Amino acid sequence: MAFWEEKTLDQMTETEWEALCDGCGRCCLLKLEDEDTGILITSDVRCQLLDGDTCGCTDYPNRQAKVPDCIKLTLQNVTEIPWIPKTCAYRRISEGKGLAWWHPLVSGDPQTVIDVGVSVSGRTVLEGDVEPDTWEEHAVEWPEWEPPEEL
Ligand code: SF4
Ligand code: SF4
Repeated sequence: MAFWEEKTLDQMTETEWEALCDGCGRCCLLKLEDEDTGILITSDVRCQLLDGDTCGCTDYPNRQAKVPDCIKLTLQNVTEIPWIPKTCAYRRISEGKGLAWWHPLVSGDPQTVIDVGVSVSGRTVLEGDVEPDTWEEHAVEWPEWEPPEEL
């Protein structure tokens, strides 16, 4: 049995925990706040440290020093932060859903995250390249999209 099938999140080693990330990059997109309602809206603007193609953090060890808003996922906050994507492996495991077929640990191929449409690869704009008066144009819904389970 694979570790993600027999262990709960709190039983995983640090290496297993890190391996669980599907590399989608969705949690590294900036959120916009609706001024009237306070509701957070997902954007297609990526964090200054996210590589837009590989969706890897370009300075993972120092990410929180460089990006104060960067959230380190933990056992506690993965169930508490509402904007963690429904497709996120940590969220799925904590909700008892297991990993989807397209997760690289299951498919054996990182490309499946891209092929199924979950990855943000090639679909984002760098934070520093957004003109100050165009932020509203970057509100998008696609990072919330979930592939059907039967895909
Ligand atoms: S949303 Fe979850 S699975 Fe995707 S990159 Fe972020 S931590 Fe990893
Ligand atoms: S610092 Fe790295 S891990 Fe944190 S949000 Fe930015 S790209 Fe993602």
